[in-house]
Amino acid sequence: MRIANLSGRLALIDRAGAVALDVERASDARFGPDPQGIYDDWTEFVGWAAGVDPSAGQPFRVEDLGPPAPAPRQVLAIGLNYSDHAAEAGLAEPTAVNVLFTKWPSCLTGPVSAVELPEGGRVDWEVELVVVIGRYTHRVPEDRAWSSVAGLTVGQDLSERILQTAGPAPQYSLGKSLPGFGPIGPWLVTPDEVEDRDDLEIGCLVNGEQVQKSRTSNLIFSVPSMIAQVSATLPLLPGDVLFTGTPGGVGVARTPPRRLAPGDELVSYVSGIGQLRQRFVAAIS
Ligand code: ZN
Repeated sequence: MRIANLSGRLALIDRAGAVALDVERASDARFGPDPQGIYDDWTEFVGWAAGVDPSAGQPFRVEDLGPPAPAPRQVLAIGLNYSDHAAEAGLAEPTAVNVLFTKWPSCLTGPVSAVELPEGGRVDWEVELVVVIGRYTHRVPEDRAWSSVAGLTVGQDLSERILQTAGPAPQYSLGKSLPGFGPIGPWLVTPDEVEDRDDLEIGCLVNGEQVQKSRTSNLIFSVPSMIAQVSATLPLLPGDVLFTGTPGGVGVARTPPRRLAPGDELVSYVSGIGQLRQRFVAAIS
């Protein structure tokens, strides 16, 4: 099953990503139009959706899609979860999920957007597999953690590296939460619908040049491992968004270092899910 946020309304999407069926209308208002609220009702919703054919829906424009989880109570992002990225950052590989930060929800956008580059900033790309939580999850063991996942989507953990590393005790969250710095989408895909939920190709391209390419089987901590570890301390709530870390190939680690510039186009993808498309524009003073 695929769901999307189409102009602020919850919709079922067909497998081809071509048509959208409005959930409130198709369910005779059994389920409301709120794309975020559905995660509180996830099990019941999945049961209903299993009997519905979205191909009766209407064509739509991807530009009209918002984030599939637009107002999560918590956004968690994991740093250093691919060996090649830890190595290029010159940092040791973590032995547990302990590099955690947030992207504040105001930075979340849909899959196609224009992103303003802050004056004097160094904005970088980080393609990531993003997980949306489908049930209250506290202290779940790893072998049951996939059952906490509503679905998967593509994310960009756009990062302004100067803010990210400023100060005597650097903190990641501010430099990763500028307006538009958290595009996710294009839709949410349930894990049963991808070929292998633990091994998906992930990558991104700047102006058509591939700059990151990996597989989610290279995650140091897999999706169920990170859910088990985080939920050992922190309860995860329905609709929470989890950025799972980026593979090697970010701009700051290149020789010479690269940053996104006005006019650049960034395309990010995860196989079996879909793609994001961001265009970068100069700061409007
Ligand atoms: Zn990241």
